[in-house]
Amino acid sequence: MNNKIKQDVNLFDVAQQQFDRALTWVDDLKAGLIESLKNPRRVTHVYFPVYMDDESVRMFHGFRVLHNNARGPGKGGVRYHPAVSEDEVAALAAFMTWKTAIVGVPFGGAKGGVICNPKELSQSELRRITRRFVIALGNAIGPHTDIPAPDVYTDQQTMAWIYDTFDVMHPGKNNRAVVTGKPIELGGSLGRDEATARGCLYATEQLLKLGMAPGVETVRGARIAIQGCGNAGATAMRLFHEAGARIVAISDSSGGIYMENGLDPAAVLAFKEEHGTVVGLPDSMTITNEELLATECEILIPAALEGQLRADNAANVAAKLVVEAANGPSTPKADEIMQANGVTVLPDILANAGGVVVSYFEWVQNLENQQWSIDKVHDRLRMRMVTAVDDIAACWHELSNNHRTSGNGDRPDPTLRDAALVTAIRRLATVTMQRDIWM
Ligand code: NAD
Repeated sequence: MNNKIKQDVNLFDVAQQQFDRALTWVDDLKAGLIESLKNPRRVTHVYFPVYMDDESVRMFHGFRVLHNNARGPGKGGVRYHPAVSEDEVAALAAFMTWKTAIVGVPFGGAKGGVICNPKELSQSELRRITRRFVIALGNAIGPHTDIPAPDVYTDQQTMAWIYDTFDVMHPGKNNRAVVTGKPIELGGSLGRDEATARGCLYATEQLLKLGMAPGVETVRGARIAIQGCGNAGATAMRLFHEAGARIVAISDSSGGIYMENGLDPAAVLAFKEEHGTVVGLPDSMTITNEELLATECEILIPAALEGQLRADNAANVAAKLVVEAANGPSTPKADEIMQANGVTVLPDILANAGGVVVSYFEWVQNLENQQWSIDKVHDRLRMRMVTAVDDIAACWHELSNNHRTSGNGDRPDPTLRDAALVTAIRRLATVTMQRDIWM
């Protein structure tokens, strides 16, 4: 992970700036509601001791932020990373609030994390950290209060440990819905592992069908560059390739590769499996991550980290459409530059929402003790993503018309991110007022 870039971009500031900009389009919010939507409902800090493999004891610091639960229990991943901070977790929790509202699943937004470096920890240390973290969180998580899921450097095994620990703490109940992203045998949903990338594909196809990305007609035949080759990036490479796109470049933390005639995803994954990186794939040209972001192509998919497109490099983006598979890959300044250059951005809170949609399907299956077929998961995911894109497109048209007729010269033209946030804010505001403020 590139910690320098992570430190330069404060994700919390990014989230607040995006929210403030979108607010200029929402003029009927009750006074005080803005603060209510901006601030988290609960921030939990936990400190817990863990036995390390060498018998020493080490203290760990973990977080769980419940940003908003007006529309349902909190939902969001758990991240294990040395750079985890309250600001980062709070920003990611806010993104989850907007995301769940945009795709219409009955959840709020939450996120969690533990400051640690998984690359330096053994499996048994990770297991003990996870169990102690869950015990320390106590009733801060639960099937009807706040439901974790995997995020950076946590996986199905981590979710199995969370479920098992919570189940021991609450015996005699069906506790499977306490966490999503579990192994299939433990109640995981078919299709969860590729849901984020598949959702990206469905959302991109619908956006193009609506003609909302000038310069790109269809996924079929489009040249695509992908930053990141993990769960989101590697799966996007495979699915966009199956949909007829030409993957011309992909990168990981060691660098990138380029092939004008198109990469073979199976060969890239086999090479990465063997060598730990995509760099060095026979017949490919080695490029830097900066070159990857500037690749001549129709669609750029950032699928690695936050803060990758910034004031200093956004003008280099040659793609016509940026599909944000990662959370927070573009800073507000980068958004402005790309908008001025005619680059359409399909924002993270819409583009990568497929993961939380299938997490919702998993939660429903757990509560009903059901297992859906893969076709049912795909069909319902497609329906949710298509509806969400249609809703955001309609909102964008409304804001654009309003912009033209209002003569508000100070305000920039709306972007799809503005439209997505406005849609989410309106939905949150409606539910908050319908529930009424307790007094
Ligand atoms: P991952 O850990 O599986 O993969 C991350 C990838 O990024 C790895 O290939 C890594 O080598 C690469 N990378 C790291 N630093 C890089 C750098 N400086 N330049 C280029 N590549 C770099 O993580 P993931 O689950 O694929 O998540 C990636 C992004 O997608 C994150 O922002 C995450 O929050 C977001 N996201 C993931 C999901 C999901 O379901 N996995 C859902 C929604 C959003």
